[in-house]
Amino acid sequence: MSCPLCHKIEQYHSHDVVAIFEHSIVFLGPWQYYAGYCIVTAKQHCTELFELSSEVRHALMDEVAQMAKAIHDVVKPRKINYEWLGNQVPHLHWHLFPRQQHDPNHLQAAWLDIAQAEKDVAKKEHLMHCAKGKSQLIQELHRALGM
Ligand SMILES: [Zn+2]
Repeated sequence: MSCPLCHKIEQYHSHDVVAIFEHSIVFLGPWQYYAGYCIVTAKQHCTELFELSSEVRHALMDEVAQMAKAIHDVVKPRKINYEWLGNQVPHLHWHLFPRQQHDPNHLQAAWLDIAQAEKDVAKKEHLMHCAKGKSQLIQELHRALGM
């Protein structure tokens, strides 16, 4: 079995880990135009939420909410988008995109801009840029999580 998220969890590098919860690991997302964008990844390989026991499912959703609250406290977005698709990588994970009023397409899914950026080097650099610096952002998220 070659699941890229199982591999990432086994091989993770501490520089992009934001939090390690009981049932999930949170990575800082590569698209830091959406400052605070994180990916909450289930530690256990699982494709569908209904495959988990009720206890684990509820605990995992609490971890998603806990992370969303920390992101909210740090970057004060207009709205957090919870992107949970799994079409490309069918391992439970949530993309938490903090969306600001000044996002050019703030009413649309972040993926529309990201898909364009994959074909446009300048746009890609713009969307991957982290104004604050990734390590500072991770420190602020740690503080918001009480870590
Ligand atoms: Zn997996």
